[in-house]
Amino acid sequence: MTEADQATGEALPMSTTGVTMAATKKCPKCTRDMVALTLTVDGDDRVLRSCSHCDLRQWEMSGGTQTSLAGVLQELTASQD
Ligand SMILES: [Zn+2]
Repeated sequence: MTEADQATGEALPMSTTGVTMAATKKCPKCTRDMVALTLTVDGDDRVLRSCSHCDLRQWEMSGGTQTSLAGVLQELTASQD
């Protein structure tokens, strides 16, 4: 477990976000199907893609631009007030 792994599971304030399933993508590393979770942050979607085989995780902004967990957490924190 890395610090980032723990933050992914524990630090997101899920009660303030809508979570739905997004379309799946193949893992760029091992080509298996990735699990995709869409989180609505302040009216905008962020997608977490996670590969259960090699544990690769990717975050996307709406429109498919890649972002980071740190960036999403910052947005979640900023949208709390
Ligand atoms: Zn993978």
